[in-house]
Amino acid sequence: MTTPDGIPERDGPRDECGVFGVYAPESEVARLAYFALYALQHRGQESAGIATTESGHIMTLRDLGLVSQVFDESKLRALGGTMAVGHVRYSTTGSSAWENAQPIYRSDRRELALAHNGNLINAVDLHEELSEQGVQLRSTSDSELIAALLSIHEAERIEDAVADVVPRLEGALSTVVLTPDAVVAFRDPLGLRPLSLGRLGDRFCVASESCAFDIIGAELVREIGPGEMVSLSERGLETRQVARSDRRAFCVFEHIYFARPDSVLEGMRTQVARRRMGEILWREEPVEADVVVAVPDSGNPAAAGYSLASGIPRDDGLIKNRYVARTFIQPGQELRKHGLRMKFNPLPEVVGGRRVVVVDDSIVRGNTTRQIVGMLRDAGAREIHVRISAPPIRHPCHYGIDMSTAEEMAAHERTVEEIGVELGCDSLAYLSLEGVYEAIRGERSTHCDACFTGDYPLERSDSASGKFALEELTVVRS
Ligand code: SF4
Repeated sequence: MTTPDGIPERDGPRDECGVFGVYAPESEVARLAYFALYALQHRGQESAGIATTESGHIMTLRDLGLVSQVFDESKLRALGGTMAVGHVRYSTTGSSAWENAQPIYRSDRRELALAHNGNLINAVDLHEELSEQGVQLRSTSDSELIAALLSIHEAERIEDAVADVVPRLEGALSTVVLTPDAVVAFRDPLGLRPLSLGRLGDRFCVASESCAFDIIGAELVREIGPGEMVSLSERGLETRQVARSDRRAFCVFEHIYFARPDSVLEGMRTQVARRRMGEILWREEPVEADVVVAVPDSGNPAAAGYSLASGIPRDDGLIKNRYVARTFIQPGQELRKHGLRMKFNPLPEVVGGRRVVVVDDSIVRGNTTRQIVGMLRDAGAREIHVRISAPPIRHPCHYGIDMSTAEEMAAHERTVEEIGVELGCDSLAYLSLEGVYEAIRGERSTHCDACFTGDYPLERSDSASGKFALEELTVVRS
């Protein structure tokens, strides 16, 4: 999605997907799923879907668009049942076509609907294996491969099928599966993407982030462990370790950027961790200035921390248009010339004649940051010092985040000084990786930080795991 001036609507890494599952015969499960997905909307805005089980059959409704656009009262009422799974999607593998929307429904040997957050790095191998068995695939998403492997599996119980299939999957998978009897959720053995267990009265639910529990009145019980499967059914809650790894590798970028500030990750409220990143950023990269300005909303917590630690007052020098939506109207030469302000508008009264510290949480391509620096100059800022509450992003993600190619990244083969020149600011500084781990009270040995370091926790290269890997495969074969 791009704004009319060709700038991606969100210049950061693209969010991935959000998943939810619930077993609650006493409740309107589709409505619970709707509101949970509404809370997870930040994790994917391209498509949304809900599947429910009623009288031994699965009903699925999915479409392109936001949760509020895909569902209305009558559609939710049509989705009756005792259990549900749901999904919001930003495409990581496969294009955004309707067939790739989730939950994915299959009924080879066993009927199921599956919702997946992550990315398989052995998708091409699995696709070949399934094709050789004559299994027809309808979409180009790697998630359908998991659905197909589980659906064709001969085990009587879905839990046994999951236990057999998960060790064969490489990559990131926080996944929920609905069958006529149970909701089953599992994570990959490294625990790359988040997945938590919640309690709703006497029943249980699972979600990518705890903010989905808050909105439906559920409470966070704990995170589902790496390689753990939980099963929710009339038998209650069952758990099983289905895969093991020597190390954990939770995505550190969830703490920095992806998760909602009110979600709890690894026992820590994300807003608190991000504010601490801002405090440490001041300690590591101080600068004399008159005002701290956040790039809203992503830079808000770190700007608060930077201001708190430095004593430099914080003010709203950039106003965000909260209602930016997709537009197909082109601005034309005249408007382009005057610097189209689709997303942010600077306030000359706050920044004029002053030394400004601009705080944001990350830079990927740098387009938005460059545009913001230019706007602040035009609004009369005397000096502009950019402070980023994460290290430079130099490497693509293979585990479910679309960060574009290394060549497109602002930090690609550039020093921090060179990036600063490119952005047009007076100074640029990033938080160190040690600073990130200090802020989240975590360690490198249990996290993935490959987009900063190139140190990938899974060895396989990305040659066969690109976003369109399966589409390319299909093209090659047809
Ligand atoms: S490469 Fe970056 S975004 Fe991807 S899982 Fe690792 S830390 Fe997260």
